Amino acid sequence: MKKQNLVVVGAGLVGSLWACYLAKKGHQVKIFERRSDMRKTEMSAGKSINLAMSTRAWTAVEKLGLQDELLKIAIPMYGRMIHQEDLTLDFQAYGKEGQAIYSISRGDLNIALMQEADKNDHIEFHFDEKCSKVNLDKREIRFKNAKTGEESNYTADAIFGTDGAFSAVRYQMQKTNLFNYSQQYLEHGYKELSIPPKADGSHRLDKNALHIWPRKSFMLIALPNLDGSFTVTLFLQFKGEISFDRLNSDKEIMDFFTKFFPTALEHMPDLLKEFKENPSASLVTVKCSPWHYKNACLLGDAAHAVVPFYGQGMNAGFQDCHVLDELLDQNPDNSWEEVFEKFSTLHSENGAAIADLAIRNFIEMRDSTASDSFLLRKKLERYLMEAFPNRYLSQYQMVSFTNLPYAYALRKGDQQTAFAEKLVKEYPEESLWKEQAFLAKVEAWLNSLD
Ligand SMILES: Cc1cc2nc3c(=O)[nH]c(=O)nc-3n(C[C@H](O)[C@H](O)[C@H](O)COP(=O)(O)OP(=O)(O)OC[C@H]3O[C@@H](n4cnc5c(N)ncnc54)[C@H](O)[C@@H]3O)c2cc1C
Repeated sequence: MKKQNLVVVGAGLVGSLWACYLAKKGHQVKIFERRSDMRKTEMSAGKSINLAMSTRAWTAVEKLGLQDELLKIAIPMYGRMIHQEDLTLDFQAYGKEGQAIYSISRGDLNIALMQEADKNDHIEFHFDEKCSKVNLDKREIRFKNAKTGEESNYTADAIFGTDGAFSAVRYQMQKTNLFNYSQQYLEHGYKELSIPPKADGSHRLDKNALHIWPRKSFMLIALPNLDGSFTVTLFLQFKGEISFDRLNSDKEIMDFFTKFFPTALEHMPDLLKEFKENPSASLVTVKCSPWHYKNACLLGDAAHAVVPFYGQGMNAGFQDCHVLDELLDQNPDNSWEEVFEKFSTLHSENGAAIADLAIRNFIEMRDSTASDSFLLRKKLERYLMEAFPNRYLSQYQMVSFTNLPYAYALRKGDQQTAFAEKLVKEYPEESLWKEQAFLAKVEAWLNSLD
């Protein structure tokens, strides 16, 4: 393919990474972002989210040689630290010895990717430029400058919509024939809070774990930051008996935390201020297909916005870049539209799959992480992974520690869960798992799958 003039809409995580991929192929890339350059502005309160970064995202950044640099700003989390209601702690490893997911600040990651993009002469950033109109048939795109109000028009060889869950590019695609789209809000929202560092700058909780306070229909989580603090997120229903709606006065907020999260509260001196100042934000799932129309293509949240409970939204978006890049390499004589078609066909079912997995993981995190039967099944899964290496991988392993398609992880994981649930009923004691009959049963089941 000749070197082309390309437009990327949205300089978030996925847009910034994708611009680097495109420029590496020698294309000229203009990337437009409706917000100001985040490298020059203060982040607004309650928007400091840190993300869990796992294999899919690491694979995608490694392709650009960025892994080592990003590891310096990431903290490994080797498992979940469950803070039970009876105040006991329970550590559940995520994977095999040494396997971790990584806590990384969304802002720092975005800045690192923008800086990488800025090193390439083929990439031009345009900030404060909001995409206001797209003509997908003519490949024309219009932006309005947020500061001057001026409008400008561009024509591109191809347009990439990386403009997030409420994508303007996708909005135009929604009007085209045979485009499928769904949007679903969760009845839960989230609010960001924090645990500051100790006076000596160290962390107040184990920094190598993702902390969860599961409380059935709601939960609190905390991910570590480099400066010794934790970003804490409360996931709670907007309405109902126990909900954001019922937490208005200082007393209501303090009573709620004292009752449900006393071990977090003792580390949260700024709780009241943060609770009142930070927004309660909503969580949306967006599914659509195909992910393209003619010479325009969607990546990241624009194609698949998922709730954050599997820690996979950004990971999925980065994997989009990796997958599309490989398809472009494998099909050098195809047009953009032909490659986008292949991308949609191959990969869009994976967006829908991770959306479903993420909703399910919410139920698992807030609810079943504390139950005995869940813990026994998890123990059994760990045992099976060790006893049958490379043949038994838990769904969590497939999603977080491999690049296997999400749709495959969903299907295979469901089969395994059903089997493991049956097994724990039949063999409820760990001591029985070493028995020949037990191992033969697992072997036979695995053979039937193979
Ligand atoms: C609470 C929470 C926790 C999360 N935790 C995790 C996690 O642990 N792990 C994980 O992998 N993911 C996580 N995610 C998801 C992750 O944040 C997103 O999947 C990721 O940010 C998507 O990147 P993106 O670039 O596709 O979209 P965005 O980050 O939304 O970026 C889109 C960009 O486009 C710009 N834009 C929008 N409209 C326009 C327009 N009309 N014109 C120009 N520019 C426009 C926006 O300003 C923005 O900069 C979490 C999300 C939330 C809300």
